[in-house]
Amino acid sequence: MEVDTKAKKTRQSPDTETLLSLTQEIAHLGHWHWYIDDQRIIWSDELYRIAGVTKDTFDLSIDKIKKLVPRSDIGLLMQGFQRAILEQKDYDMEFRLLRPDGDVRHVNCVGRVTTNHDGDVTELYGILQDVTERVEREQELRRAKEDAEKAYAAKSQFLANMSHELRTPLNAVIGFSEMMERELFGELGHEKYKGYVQGIKKSGEHLLDLISDILDMSKIEAGKYELHMEELKLSEIIESVTQIIFGRSKDSGISVNISMQNQETSIRADRRAITQILLNLLSNAVKFTKSGGRVTVQCFERTDYVLLRVIDTGIGIPANKLPYVMHPFEQVSHQYERGHEGSGLGLAITKELVELHGGYIHIESYVDQGTTVSIRLPYVASGDLENDANWEKQQMSPFLKSKKSA
Ligand code: ATP
Ligand code: MG
Repeated sequence: MEVDTKAKKTRQSPDTETLLSLTQEIAHLGHWHWYIDDQRIIWSDELYRIAGVTKDTFDLSIDKIKKLVPRSDIGLLMQGFQRAILEQKDYDMEFRLLRPDGDVRHVNCVGRVTTNHDGDVTELYGILQDVTERVEREQELRRAKEDAEKAYAAKSQFLANMSHELRTPLNAVIGFSEMMERELFGELGHEKYKGYVQGIKKSGEHLLDLISDILDMSKIEAGKYELHMEELKLSEIIESVTQIIFGRSKDSGISVNISMQNQETSIRADRRAITQILLNLLSNAVKFTKSGGRVTVQCFERTDYVLLRVIDTGIGIPANKLPYVMHPFEQVSHQYERGHEGSGLGLAITKELVELHGGYIHIESYVDQGTTVSIRLPYVASGDLENDANWEKQQMSPFLKSKKSA
């Protein structure tokens, strides 16, 4: 007869005591009792482990325990116990334990009191959990957040300073090249120089635009973009912005139309910001529309807000890129492969400026059909309008809707 030498040992179901001990070990959680009358203190095994001492060598007394608590935490601990005894209330406190080997543990102590017939407290008891990992994680997170905030502030400050420093010489470059272009103090001589001077001026202007955008973005991010509110007649601003881009739209063979529901519509807002919003949207519309295309600016009055739309029949934005185009520096395709100028800050700034006014922006776009940017601005700018999640759906552009169903 063969004997199975590999027979497995059986495992017994643990009794409650063993199970409790195991639970405490896994959860790094111990329990304790402190009997007031005879000053007897009892700790569970796990509590000894948390404190970094052994049952055999550590004499449980209040004085000895106090030596395990850093001086700065003792006051808090004793105050907690005193209040528990006087007010007979449950207590919950967090303090540190200084293990004899120098290791510091963060612990959370939750306790209760027992009273006798006279209502006197006879015993304090509770659980104590080692929460060091959690506390350290929290501290790390806090430190990382503070570091990130500092770095962010430093970046914004640096950008603001740099932009300011760069603007002054650039203005000189642009101003002097303009004087040379006009040959104010005499002829340039060679025809080629004229072209070069124009190039210098154009590049200078381009750089200045970029620097202004970076400065605006860093101001917005640092919460330092100040709005100067005034009554604005929207037809005038739309008119002036279309004038600014007229040259570009004409050169590109794109027609620009304005459709105002009411010529007198006005809002209380920041002139520079509203102009910039419209300029960014219109220049995008013209930039991303091919010759023969159409750009329309619409303005409607609604009960609580003004609705502005910039609609183009351009190249559109692919659906997978649409959620990102309002992030800073996000562009559908890179400059070198598309021949469009720009840094990808226009829409990010536009979105921030709209939101600073308490408004919302929404883009709808279909490749090779066109793009509609809708903006809702309150009559009186405020940053605390409630977000209406359905707004985007309500404001679906009729232009694109009809195209889609076509
Ligand atoms: P900048 O505005 O800083 O000069 P940009 O025009 O490239 O540069 P944004 O205005 O932020 O940057 O637009 C981000 C990207 O979104 C654009 O690069 C383009 O790919 C896409 N986009 C924006 N508007 C339109 C539009 N009307 N039609 C098609 N694509 C657009
Ligand atoms: Mg742009």
